[in-house]
Amino acid sequence: MGYEDEFPESLELFKRAERVMPGGVSSPVRRFDPYPFYVERAEGSRLYTVDGHVLIDYCLAFGPLILGHAHPEVVEAVVERVREGFHYGTPTLPELKLAEKVVELVPNVEKVRLVNTGTEATMSAIRLARAYTGREKIVKFEGCYHGAHDAVLVRAGSGASELGAPDSPGIPESVAENTLVCPFNDVEAFVETVERFDEEIGAVIVEPVLGNAGCVPPDEEFLKVLREYCDGTERLLIFDEVITGFRLELGGAQEYYGIDADLVCLGKILGGGLPIGAFGGPEEYMSRVAPEGKVYQAGTFNGNPVSATAGLVTLEVLERERPYDELSSKAERLASALEDGLEDRGIEGVVNRVESMFQVYFGIEEVRDYADVNSADHDAFKRFHRELLEHGVWIAASNYEAWFLSIAHTETDLERTEEAFEEALDRLTG
Ligand code: PMP
Repeated sequence: MGYEDEFPESLELFKRAERVMPGGVSSPVRRFDPYPFYVERAEGSRLYTVDGHVLIDYCLAFGPLILGHAHPEVVEAVVERVREGFHYGTPTLPELKLAEKVVELVPNVEKVRLVNTGTEATMSAIRLARAYTGREKIVKFEGCYHGAHDAVLVRAGSGASELGAPDSPGIPESVAENTLVCPFNDVEAFVETVERFDEEIGAVIVEPVLGNAGCVPPDEEFLKVLREYCDGTERLLIFDEVITGFRLELGGAQEYYGIDADLVCLGKILGGGLPIGAFGGPEEYMSRVAPEGKVYQAGTFNGNPVSATAGLVTLEVLERERPYDELSSKAERLASALEDGLEDRGIEGVVNRVESMFQVYFGIEEVRDYADVNSADHDAFKRFHRELLEHGVWIAASNYEAWFLSIAHTETDLERTEEAFEEALDRLTG
């Protein structure tokens, strides 16, 4: 049976959506061919589509749902909170508690500003770094995605690379000119860039694990060299931990790799599945943010008490259960099964994994940077993706996204997924 036969209700909805929404979706990464399915509800590790399919979910809304869908404690707290009203435009206790929790858990954060998205977090952190240093240029790395704003939509990963339009029309050249791009994991190119532009560079922003090109771990030296070349007062090192925050460890990549950033951007898990973002750092920098300082940042929905409640409960569960070893071993099990499956069939490919995030690349033996990801066999990935879907396993539809594990994935889920790997890989070779 074809996709259209399997997902007929989704097709009807998608046809309606195409009439009123660009590409029929609210965000480009949700679109895949021939059309995306619609989800009615989700619980634990499972998505329930409007067409009656039940899928084991490793996309997890692109990362936030480390506790799985509709975790009972989060649901209960959110429902209780919603009954009190949704938003007041005044300070509330949930936002205060969440800010305190971030300061407690995330290294080098003394103050934090809660915003609504990861995009706002990186946009504001970059503005703060520019204001603090008085320098306009920033360095980013190929394939790193820091949200959909002008300064960073230059050779970004994720949806942008999939669409083959990393430099979006509409971004002024004068803005893009201030964004210097180096290959991820390329220490030499970075040092050369910093030495060449030296006093013009006010910030270096990086995804500590390149999660918007699948999963590319940093070389041991790479993050260290970034730290070395960012003298805290002249050039700020910004870790974009929108994915890695609370994912690799409670304290994120800073804790995991033992490297300090000057400013940290958070999102995804921080909101427990509801919209959120945040940026934070030492008092020295964060005191420049309005209204304490002059660097303007504001938002009608900043610190929304419902998002803050979902985030706070999520962090409390993570703190109580410390599930990181368990998450990592589940991911390791799937990654190994996949590697073995490739090897047994003589399929060229590699699985990259950092803790509970991973990705498989076909037709290539090593993936260290964005160029490697670009040269992987994406047709094979698409076929594999489709086969997995037919076997009830949902992963993001792009080789430029990571797979994520949650505490809700059960032994049965893992077994079924391993079986799906076997069948999908057989079909790839068959
Ligand atoms: N930074 C990173 C590392 C991300 O993965 C994302 C989103 N995938 C963003 C920033 C932007 O976050 P948002 O979509 O919430 O704006």
